[in-house]
Amino acid sequence: MSPLSPSLDTIAVTAGRTASGGSLAPPLWTTSTFELGGDVDARRLATTPGEARFYGRHGNPTVAAFEDAVAQMEGAEAALAFASGMGALSAVVLGLCSRGSHIVAARQLYGGARQLLSGPCARFGIDVTFVDATRPGALSEAVEPGRTVLVVAESPANPRLDLVDLDELGAIQGPFTVVDSTFATPFGQRPLAHGVDLVVHSATKAMAGHNDALLGVVCGSRDLVEWLWGFAVLQGAPASPFDAMNGLRGLRTLGVRFRQQTATALALAEALEGLAAVREVRHPGLASHPQADLARRQMQLTGGLVSFEVAGGADAARRFVAALRLVRHAASLGGPETLVCHPASTSHAGLREEELAEAGISGGSVRISCGLEDPADIIDDVRNALRSTALPASPTEPALTATA
Ligand SMILES: *Cc1c(COP(=O)(O)O)cnc(C)c1O
Repeated sequence: MSPLSPSLDTIAVTAGRTASGGSLAPPLWTTSTFELGGDVDARRLATTPGEARFYGRHGNPTVAAFEDAVAQMEGAEAALAFASGMGALSAVVLGLCSRGSHIVAARQLYGGARQLLSGPCARFGIDVTFVDATRPGALSEAVEPGRTVLVVAESPANPRLDLVDLDELGAIQGPFTVVDSTFATPFGQRPLAHGVDLVVHSATKAMAGHNDALLGVVCGSRDLVEWLWGFAVLQGAPASPFDAMNGLRGLRTLGVRFRQQTATALALAEALEGLAAVREVRHPGLASHPQADLARRQMQLTGGLVSFEVAGGADAARRFVAALRLVRHAASLGGPETLVCHPASTSHAGLREEELAEAGISGGSVRISCGLEDPADIIDDVRNALRSTALPASPTEPALTATA
């Protein structure tokens, strides 16, 4: 078990309050700019990384409160918030790499991250090598000393919940290492404690946790975060104060929400494992997960996601999604509502056929993000909807029947 501060729940409630005055709720600073007055050293304010009282693209007090809280929860010196998870990821990649740089990346990545690395990066002359990051040693073996600037991984990875060994990632010397820890949140794992340089979150998901904010954040050493700020202020994708306020409000209850979502996901995954209508049920807390030992070693909570394959392929998956009554069809995760998504047509819709195959995504793949409804209601809804997939999709396919 990696060290987890026993007071993470307490940190989540107490952090990010230094500039709140007496307000219990985070004050919302909607201003785009600050009066500087006549006798202030404006040049100093304009060039101070993260300065919260100069101009909104440089920093904002509400955003700074969210950043402080996330940094404390990740055990980081500093954090920097962005308008989205992709804003954070693109700042890391484009802020650290130049023409001629080499990146080693997991091929198990969120679709947008994969597209950023294979599209714009190639166009800018940044060379990316994709590897199967579940294979021990794969990331470090692909590092080219002197040329590799960045190693990019995601764990658990969207959508099949493959894991990356964080100790192994953190032990890589030379390039900067970054992990997208969105699916884990700080309650699931704390990558910096394993020696990883940067941790990125789409706080849009479980951190903000209510489907009402679009928000990203990156945490790491103060030096590295200040360097990234120097790019971010030019990139121009800072977090909106309103979304940062919702993000901070989300962090206050993240522990209870994430624990319940983890318990529900585990119960759902276990209920699905016996059914003939599904294949390859995946959740990092299942004993059948190919990296179950690694999950036990590096994760404190395994999160609210379950992914599986609907037997019968794309047509059966479509019937399954259409037959759900409580579970909603939408392309996000980590909120109070249980959501189903069909990665091939949503989160990974921009990938080419061979990229989908490499990522292990087929037409029958579905991903469920467990919300906060009664777990029994969620499991019933999924079971009932799976019954409707028993119709043969085509005359050549055998009829599939659910056993429960
Ligand atoms: C959603 C997601 C992102 C992108 O975040 P946005 O806030 O939508 O930009 C990145 N990584 C993972 C793992 C995600 O689930």
